[in-house]
Amino acid sequence: MILRQLFEQSSWAFTYLLADPVSGDAVMIDPVLEQHLRDATLLRELGVRLVYTLETHVHEDHVTGASLLRDHTGCEIVVSKRAGIEGADVLVDDGDRVCWGSLALEVRSTPGHSLGCTTYVTPKLDMAFTGDALLIRGAGRTDMQGGDPRTLYRSAREKILTLPSDCLLYPAHDYHGRSVTTVREERLFNPRLGEMVREEDFIGYTKNLGLPHPLRIDVAVPANLRCGQLEAEPTGLETPRWGPVVRSHAGVWEVNPLWVAKHRETVRILDVRTAGEIEGELGHIRGATLIPLDELQGRLGELARDLPVVVVCQSGACSARGAQMLESAGFGQIAKLTGGMLRWSQLGLPVDRSITHALVGAP
Ligand code: FE
Repeated sequence: MILRQLFEQSSWAFTYLLADPVSGDAVMIDPVLEQHLRDATLLRELGVRLVYTLETHVHEDHVTGASLLRDHTGCEIVVSKRAGIEGADVLVDDGDRVCWGSLALEVRSTPGHSLGCTTYVTPKLDMAFTGDALLIRGAGRTDMQGGDPRTLYRSAREKILTLPSDCLLYPAHDYHGRSVTTVREERLFNPRLGEMVREEDFIGYTKNLGLPHPLRIDVAVPANLRCGQLEAEPTGLETPRWGPVVRSHAGVWEVNPLWVAKHRETVRILDVRTAGEIEGELGHIRGATLIPLDELQGRLGELARDLPVVVVCQSGACSARGAQMLESAGFGQIAKLTGGMLRWSQLGLPVDRSITHALVGAP
């Protein structure tokens, strides 16, 4: 199985991708709205097809990316029938199985943090995705959405900590840089749910957490009750429309050379190679502005902003850095040329070798 743990820093949330390498079918547990491009890119780069998104619960601190991923990939949204969520494609309950490719997850109802909390467990009982029912050395809060400390204690102790001791536990959040734990560790060291902690101790502890109200709860919960559909159109999440650009998992917009060659007049080309490289065999793209990467930061003012900028280098590495510099400087429409001049040359696309006029750096 391909397993990827992804992190969203503003809500300290984990998303999990589980894919069958043979069939190419994949599921995503707890995707985050703002990361849907990252997630879609990872799916593309791994060459897998999203079949389902799965929610562990109605999140109170971030909006799920389930609806956007469904729009983009045609996947189906799986939620607990106890969660009260509208618009899902598949409702599951305790004891059900979610199957894709040769893989499956068992659904365990683990309420207490909220009414519809679900833990997903692999058939071999060697991994469990616990949502907020059990966190690493902790547990979810119980003061919202029908939460109840006694219920949570029983869910965690009976449905999660009874798994085999070496079962890996993957939570929905971690606030201290940890990523995974085991049943054995949590039985021994979880200060709220460990073997020595009685139910009444847990209830007392949990009732006195004194946690602040989650910042985004007023937006997140209503949206998550609709599978992550917002009342207003989300902003800043769109894929640029000026060309067939894609976001790489490295976080850089890329555009393919064939499209650039065909639409040369609609973009500006910024070549960030050194003078020595530009004078080499590969030549440069006609009309390119030539500014070496080392000088780019100090010469950003020379670049016009009227057209999208395609950043070019030898292989695509330096241009990624150049594109990031432009993005930080507020250039809205930028992408690096996929594969750089090496790819351009392999495709037999036209090059210019008359250096003198190009080195002037015309805008
Ligand atoms: Fe939660």
